[in-house]
Amino acid sequence: MNIVLFGPPGAGKGTQAKRLVESRGWVQLSTGDMLRDARKAGTELGNRVAGIMDRGELVSDEIVIALIEERLPEAEAAGGAIFDGFPRTVPQAEALDRLLAGRGAPIAKVIRLVVDQDELVARVEKRAAQEGRADDTVEAFKVRLTAYNNQTAPLIPFYDGQNKLVDVDGMGSMDEVSARIKAALDA
Ligand code: AMP
Repeated sequence: MNIVLFGPPGAGKGTQAKRLVESRGWVQLSTGDMLRDARKAGTELGNRVAGIMDRGELVSDEIVIALIEERLPEAEAAGGAIFDGFPRTVPQAEALDRLLAGRGAPIAKVIRLVVDQDELVARVEKRAAQEGRADDTVEAFKVRLTAYNNQTAPLIPFYDGQNKLVDVDGMGSMDEVSARIKAALDA
């Protein structure tokens, strides 16, 4: 089963994706993690995206689509993928549909984590303190939220039109949110 974990920055996608990896054995495909790994490794790609990421802007569709495509065989072998932080634009979603159709494993559900804006800011401040992510500053976070509202939110009608969108309340404890996601997947 392939699913998308969808939501604004700080909604808890990464945390919940890791929990699904543990409970279901699927593979987490986080383009944010892949890009951070490339930066840590000091690759040409990593250097190219560093400034864009630190400002909170989106890197190009071509880059993230290529990163995802490389990892699809691994997801297929595991029996499922949790797309986390991808797709973030309509062209990315269209590319993903094409790639998965070619493999006969379309997106089954898009779980949208719904969290209010004040809570998002609080979570991102906490993560900045814990992980020291350069893009968790107040300035960069504002840019990321704008990118989400302008470029990523159009995916809500896109997936709703495919009858795949399931809203899940993302407020409350991690366990509560995990239980709601489980119920949404098992429904
Ligand atoms: P994330 O960890 O998912 O919040 O991603 C961190 C940063 O990586 C984002 O702010 C973007 O700069 C970049 N990024 C990650 N995924 C994507 C994507 N699907 N499309 C464009 N940029 C992305």
